[in-house]
Amino acid sequence: MLIVMKADATDSQVEAVLRVVEHLGFKGHPMPGAMRTAIGITGNQGAIDPSHFENLAGVAEAIRVSKPYKLISLDLRPEKTIVRVGDATIGGDELAIIAGPCAIESRAQAFAIAEAVRRSGARFFRGGAYKPRTSPYAFQGLGEEGLRILADVREAYGLKIVTEALDEVGVDLVERYGDMIQIGARNMQNFSLLKRAGKARLPILLKRGLSATLDEWLLAAEYVMAEGNYQVVLCERGIRTFAQHTRNTLDLSAIPAVRRISHLPVIVDPSHGTGRNFMVTPLARAGVAVGADGLIVEVHDQPEHALSDGAQALTLEQYDELVNEVRSIHEVIAPAAVS
Ligand code: PEP
Ligand code: MN
Repeated sequence: MLIVMKADATDSQVEAVLRVVEHLGFKGHPMPGAMRTAIGITGNQGAIDPSHFENLAGVAEAIRVSKPYKLISLDLRPEKTIVRVGDATIGGDELAIIAGPCAIESRAQAFAIAEAVRRSGARFFRGGAYKPRTSPYAFQGLGEEGLRILADVREAYGLKIVTEALDEVGVDLVERYGDMIQIGARNMQNFSLLKRAGKARLPILLKRGLSATLDEWLLAAEYVMAEGNYQVVLCERGIRTFAQHTRNTLDLSAIPAVRRISHLPVIVDPSHGTGRNFMVTPLARAGVAVGADGLIVEVHDQPEHALSDGAQALTLEQYDELVNEVRSIHEVIAPAAVS
């Protein structure tokens, strides 16, 4: 159920509705918007009788939700969510650029790349300290030492740190050292991790699963939001198909498809989406052209020596060029995205 408040409803009227929701044993999620506040209700198994709410002061409508999702939906919040990561944003007017290596390998490597990321004007630095590798014998990341390096990068360059948590303990650690918690493609339906992310005090970057449908991906976001963390950014990172010319098939149609359903920002990962250096920039351009709110891109100062995902890493020069190109495209596309 979705309670839409009148445009002039007061805070105490919203609180009175929330008290009724709680009294019924459910959880209320108030979403203030430009025109009105709406309250999503979760925790109910069956339909709720709208008469509980219809006559309360300040209530415009109590609407039954027939779709599988409630909180990610434009019905709840018609205007786009702007996710705040400290003083940086994703989903606002500015194109968000998250760049850095696949994995943090050493202090020298992280700092060399962060310097270039900072110079490009990007606000976010990525880098895995805990890596979900296909083989248990592949480099697994530096662990907490990697997180300490990331925290030092933030200190030195003022970049916001985006890094992956592989499990619930990982969320505790990223909360301590980072600014945004990445949930990777392989963990998109790790429901206990999603619930923990929903209680985190940091925003979540939720990657699409390797073979996830749009509904499965959006319901994963719903898991996070149902726990009370509404700061979620979706990331299209390619899906598994029969194609062999790319590592994954970057599904750019997901961007307008998500837009039609959800208020959450959505970004594109052309690095994992293609797996191949020469495809990253063209697909980054395309991602911005279809209206993505940002990009997450892998960059390395020495791609040939990278300990993971070297084949898709951009050199520092290629990265610089990419940023210039996508910024020009974003300038052209931004007015259309707003309308
Ligand atoms: C990554 O960002 O390095 C990563 C492992 O991504 P994904 O979960 O999309 O494979
Ligand atoms: Mn990677």
